[in-house]
Amino acid sequence: MPVNDRIAGFHAELTDIRRDIHAHPELGFEEQRTSEIVAGKLESFGIEVHRGIGKTGVVGRLRVGNSPRAIGLRADMDCLPIQEANQFGHRSTHNGRMHACGHDGHTTMLLGAARYLAQTRGFDGTVHFIFQPAEEGLGGADAMVKEGLFRTFPCDVIFGMHNRPGLAVGKFQIRPGPMMAGGAFFDIAITGKGVHGARPEAGIDPVLVASHITTALQSIVSRNARPADTVVVSVTQIHAGDAYNVIPETAVLSGTVRCFSKESMKLVEDRMRLIAEGVAAGFGATASLDFRALFPPLVNHADETDFIADCAAEVVGPENVNRNGPLTMASEDFSIMLNNVPGAYIQIGNGDQPGGCEVHNPGYDFNDGALPYGASLFARLVERRLARMTAD
Ligand SMILES: [Zn+2]
Ligand SMILES: [Zn+2]
Repeated sequence: MPVNDRIAGFHAELTDIRRDIHAHPELGFEEQRTSEIVAGKLESFGIEVHRGIGKTGVVGRLRVGNSPRAIGLRADMDCLPIQEANQFGHRSTHNGRMHACGHDGHTTMLLGAARYLAQTRGFDGTVHFIFQPAEEGLGGADAMVKEGLFRTFPCDVIFGMHNRPGLAVGKFQIRPGPMMAGGAFFDIAITGKGVHGARPEAGIDPVLVASHITTALQSIVSRNARPADTVVVSVTQIHAGDAYNVIPETAVLSGTVRCFSKESMKLVEDRMRLIAEGVAAGFGATASLDFRALFPPLVNHADETDFIADCAAEVVGPENVNRNGPLTMASEDFSIMLNNVPGAYIQIGNGDQPGGCEVHNPGYDFNDGALPYGASLFARLVERRLARMTAD
């Protein structure tokens, strides 16, 4: 069974929705317009709509028949604080805001499945269409779960999907068990002693301290983590000083950590604190670490991984589904939902054309060619998981 015919029939309409959302990106917990579009579309399909779960989150409930079985399908709606470099017609109209991770496409694919399922109603049970705010590090999944998402909308299983640049359109990849890393953000505040830039002997230079700490932090990966464990420590910001001739009083280092276990995350946090405080002390400065573990690793449940891979194989053929996909160091807060309900998260090809752009790049765009594949997979999950029992 290839892409669902009826869903292929509204490919043009889905493309319009996707480009409209792309042109009007909204940051996490600010998705007012996007969530209104989602809610309005769901209502127009005849689906019961619940707004304001996790601030701007939306849940659509579609019940057919009497079965108590229920499935959750999740998409994310937020954009990133990036200035879009593309010049095409549907480029961002919001300065410094961009759908650079394809959440415009994820939202549209789920709307496509919702429209199809509301029309055809070929299942017995309840579907919860979960449109999550603030996936990009601001805690949208956590907010929805804490506000009782799975108490108000109980799900036996839950599934999500993310586009993957470099993987051809019409292909899927997944792996059972850990698939995406857990993530933390950190800030290290260093205090030295500000002084004239020509009189270093009278001060304590926090820029030099920050540089030594930055270098030393890389020894956590090479010398403290077990080589068989995968760990990333990235200092991504160094802020200090405003003038050519002033050694500043303070400096701040910030960055991110990725790994696949709580133990590794704890090891990195402990070592980072020791290094920051110890190196700073060696220079006569002080340093304090603020370490925030934000996402647990994303761990796919084995049965649900097989199930979604089987459904994907129905849509695109078994040769186009990689069931042993790569580990990804990126993080994804769907992991929080998977810690509450069994399920799986799959990657859908965004295209492997030369020059194709990675997510979080100012030249990225979701590939509209992928829309029918993703919508068909979401629909197939429901039709198989909530298949009608023959009554005779
Ligand atoms: Zn992203
Ligand atoms: Zn994303």
